[in-house]
Amino acid sequence: MSAKIISGKDIAAQIREELKKEVEEMKEKHNVIPGLVTILVGENPASISYVTGKQKTAHELGFNSIQDDQPEDISEEDLLALVDKYNKDPQIHGILVQLPLPKHIDEKKVLNAIDPDKDVDGFHPVNVGRLMIGGKEAKFLPCTPAGIQELIVRSGFETKGAEVVVVGRSNIVGKPIANIMLQKGEGANSTVTVVHTGTKNLDEHCKRADILIVAAGVPGLVKPEWIKPGSCVIDVGVNRVGEKKSEKTGKMIAILRGDVDFEAAKEIAGAITPVPGGVGPMTITMLMKNTVKSAKTSAGIE
Ligand code: NAP
Repeated sequence: MSAKIISGKDIAAQIREELKKEVEEMKEKHNVIPGLVTILVGENPASISYVTGKQKTAHELGFNSIQDDQPEDISEEDLLALVDKYNKDPQIHGILVQLPLPKHIDEKKVLNAIDPDKDVDGFHPVNVGRLMIGGKEAKFLPCTPAGIQELIVRSGFETKGAEVVVVGRSNIVGKPIANIMLQKGEGANSTVTVVHTGTKNLDEHCKRADILIVAAGVPGLVKPEWIKPGSCVIDVGVNRVGEKKSEKTGKMIAILRGDVDFEAAKEIAGAITPVPGGVGPMTITMLMKNTVKSAKTSAGIE
């Protein structure tokens, strides 16, 4: 039987609808509007497109959203002063500095200067620590891993006691999603194994997984015979494997593939995310969710 296709597009749209209502209610009852600033340094076309997407979603949800464009030659000192200005601004609940930054600026220094209580990306060391401690301590979950958890939960998969295998141990996907799934609580409480290039018998670990999360960046790494029948497969990988002409615009666009052989895997898994249209659409939505959470916390709204 063919697997259920987990649509990140649909689930992200559903969460955005929920957030829109929450924002309306916050405005009406508490006169609080979530504020998000995205700081863009220079004119990298990919960065412009990412920031534009974030700003568009923030506007649609009724946020107070600011795009702060800065020249490529801004000094590190001036950028740090700008971050500090937004740290102190009570109307701003989320600060996002779009990466990469120009070479003359120390990225780590800038990211670490963001107030952890406004770090809606969830990568500040304080938030990484808070996630590790878990429970109420965990404030902002990093957006892609948080999106993965939502996809699993909203697809109706039982996470408690499930064997979760995560392929990849990056700081942005593998480690945080492993951490999220092992926490004692709703939508988690799983038995987690993390595998990587140092792992022996990668296939044997994958075969055990009730929930298999793959974030390696290697197209087709996971073979269909590694998938447990009926399991939930979350393919985080986004790999450009060529180009094709868009039917809509006639322009050349990238052909994207995941880390899992989708066509064969969907005949074995119980549910699977497509690439594109799976994990991808969740990331910006979870950034919005973190910003709403930040605004609520700072206003003391439950
Ligand atoms: P990364 O930093 O390159 O990390 C990849 C991880 O996979 C590493 O831990 C690596 O192991 C492991 N790995 C690579 N090849 C492997 C192999 N043959 N066998 C076992 N493990 C292997 O990548 P990332 O930033 O986590 O991203 C992973 C993928 O997800 C990429 O395709 C990326 O584009 C995609 N992604 C998508 C989204 C989204 O959709 N929103 C967000 C983030 C990332 P070692 O540690 O041993 O090197």
